[in-house]
Amino acid sequence: MTDNHTFSDNQTRKTWTKQQILSLYNKPFLELVYEAASVHREHHDPNKVQISSLISIKTGGCPEDCGYCPQAARYHTEVKIHELLPVHQVKAQALRAKQHGISRVCLGAAWRNVKDGEEFDQVLEMVRTVTKLDMEVCCTLGMLTENQAKRLEEAGLYAYNHNIDSSEDYYKEVISTRGFEDRLETIDNVRKTSITVCSGGIIGMGETIEDRCDMLRILANMYPQPESVPINALVAVEGTPLEDQKPVSIFEMVRMVATARIVIPTTQVRLSAGRTSMSQEGQALCFLAGANSIFAGDKLLTTPNPDIHQDKQLFDQLGIVPQAPFEKHPQRPVVEAKDAEVHALGERPKWSRPGHKIERNELAKAAGTINGSDEALVETKSE
Ligand code: SF4
Repeated sequence: MTDNHTFSDNQTRKTWTKQQILSLYNKPFLELVYEAASVHREHHDPNKVQISSLISIKTGGCPEDCGYCPQAARYHTEVKIHELLPVHQVKAQALRAKQHGISRVCLGAAWRNVKDGEEFDQVLEMVRTVTKLDMEVCCTLGMLTENQAKRLEEAGLYAYNHNIDSSEDYYKEVISTRGFEDRLETIDNVRKTSITVCSGGIIGMGETIEDRCDMLRILANMYPQPESVPINALVAVEGTPLEDQKPVSIFEMVRMVATARIVIPTTQVRLSAGRTSMSQEGQALCFLAGANSIFAGDKLLTTPNPDIHQDKQLFDQLGIVPQAPFEKHPQRPVVEAKDAEVHALGERPKWSRPGHKIERNELAKAAGTINGSDEALVETKSE
């Protein structure tokens, strides 16, 4: 049953149930794609696709345990750690991206959460610098307090990415170092500003179709809905716990894109990780089903991605043109650091660590150097 609520801005809010979304997902394939393509045409220009680029501003060494991520310090992968990039290097990379028709840049740092201090000030300067190039800037920096979100807003940030990854139930199977509610709290903190929300997830991690639909239910029932929803297909990286996962089929990907398009009709649905294993025809089917953004560049943070020249060739074949920046939402002015009104509070928020065991505590316990009651102390100090 659909439950409609009318809001003062005359928007109609539809509350989706998991069952409704499952019924859509499981429709005969061509019927689903036709319906999604029709919804897409009502809200978007079907011949425009936004090209975005991801810059890894701080790579690897992350204390989290996301089972899909080669940047987690605890997994043995070939990711090369680098500390926070200087602002001029990020500007140079963004300028190169702009020359290729890329209108949005996502700055990603492998952090558990943002900490006030020099490094965050440097990120704020990156946001100001890249925004002044007339590009949409998105950041993905981990968990964020309300005050930090306000500082990013002042710097001109256009979007903040914080994926919910999967259904709440399956999330626990993939990540133990923070709770699902922490993700929602960060999204709420971003929503207290005018920064747009980018939140989506990953398929192919071993979740069920029900989990996928439940993830879409959570996103679709947010109010307002996220302005951007990335749909990633897992890129199974050797050395991570999910290294043996089989790739998802193109039909599963198209079903996911089409279902997202129907339940979140005005958002930018972004084809994200996993495009290297899709044929050009498969990607065209995703565009037909409502995907209207891709990530370009030979790397997506640390995993492979198609080359921009291949993407341009595909666009030419399909008669697709790149979407200009700020077409969907206007950009606000950038406030320089010296004029900022929101200042660091030096907060030390306690984000959750549900069921998390710190490996060195376990080793120490096994070696008999700490007992159970000491463990809590060591865990607190390590945050
Ligand atoms: S996904 Fe982000 S938070 Fe999770 S391990 Fe990777 S870098 Fe860290």
